[in-house]
Amino acid sequence: MTTNDGKQRIATLVAPDIYCLEIPTPFDVGAVNVYLLKGERLTLVDVGPSTDDAWAALTNGLESIGVSVEDIEQVILTHHHVDHCGQLEKVRELSGAKTFAHPQATPYVQQDEQFMTFHDQFFEELYIQSGVPEKKMVIISKFHKLMKTFSAPSQIDFHLKHEQKVPYLEDWQVLYTPGHSQSHLSLYRAKDQVMIGGDHIIKRISSNAFIEPPRNRTSTRPLTLIQYRTALQMCADMEIKQVLSGHGEPVYNHRELILARLQKNWERTDTLRRLLADGEKTAFELNALLFPGLYQKELPLTLSETLGHIDLLMILHQIEVREQDRVLYYHL
Ligand SMILES: [Zn+2]
Ligand SMILES: [Zn+2]
Repeated sequence: MTTNDGKQRIATLVAPDIYCLEIPTPFDVGAVNVYLLKGERLTLVDVGPSTDDAWAALTNGLESIGVSVEDIEQVILTHHHVDHCGQLEKVRELSGAKTFAHPQATPYVQQDEQFMTFHDQFFEELYIQSGVPEKKMVIISKFHKLMKTFSAPSQIDFHLKHEQKVPYLEDWQVLYTPGHSQSHLSLYRAKDQVMIGGDHIIKRISSNAFIEPPRNRTSTRPLTLIQYRTALQMCADMEIKQVLSGHGEPVYNHRELILARLQKNWERTDTLRRLLADGEKTAFELNALLFPGLYQKELPLTLSETLGHIDLLMILHQIEVREQDRVLYYHL
């Protein structure tokens, strides 16, 4: 029962009726945690990316507690990122399980071509406005490559919304926690104050509020960092004993962690504002100053963060903007 990395994969009981399966991913973030919930229906929360190693870890982990993939009755996705949902179709094919997720996950999980065209147009326009050099535009097609390599097109059967009870898991309630992704859901069990937090709250890494296109062509871009900060605040106000995260160990001090994250995040907003003291700059120029070591390699990630701080300062009227030849220039 070992996978290619030589590690034995066993599922661990982390709370009553909740098992954690650590699934390897080829990404910098490391392994992803998939949770098996034993309720009226046997439920998987996330499934892992589509790789041979991830499949071996999922099947071995389930086997270690006497469950096979065929026994899974439903799957809930915390969000649409490939490290969480890539091997969904394989699980569905073998088990016939139904999938539950936020409506915003659907076009990504289906790999809907019309949506992907809209997605590309949105990012092309955004990058032009941000002053991203022409030669960097290839990152738009890299996103598709990543999606096609580590996930197979699949389906979502039922949509979940904020505060509804999870079907066939009566103790669990859905929380809509957008910011890291527009499709991001967390799950909460009030009786023992356990939260399954996906990528919303992670102990060792501060999640990114990724810029995503709006739900449709007529809407404006969601202000993801502001959403993320607000959704964190919502969780800080809740009584939570244990957050079971999508990556790494559980969080037992969620309030402290959230406050520290919000504070550190605000420091960066303040740094960005100070960078404008010596004259106007584009988002791309600010991005290079804010993340000098990282912005070349991780442009979508760092530019999302930079634009998030710009959104925040714009809302607070601490900075202003001027447009010239489709490019936006920010100033104090
Ligand atoms: Zn994610
Ligand atoms: Zn993740």
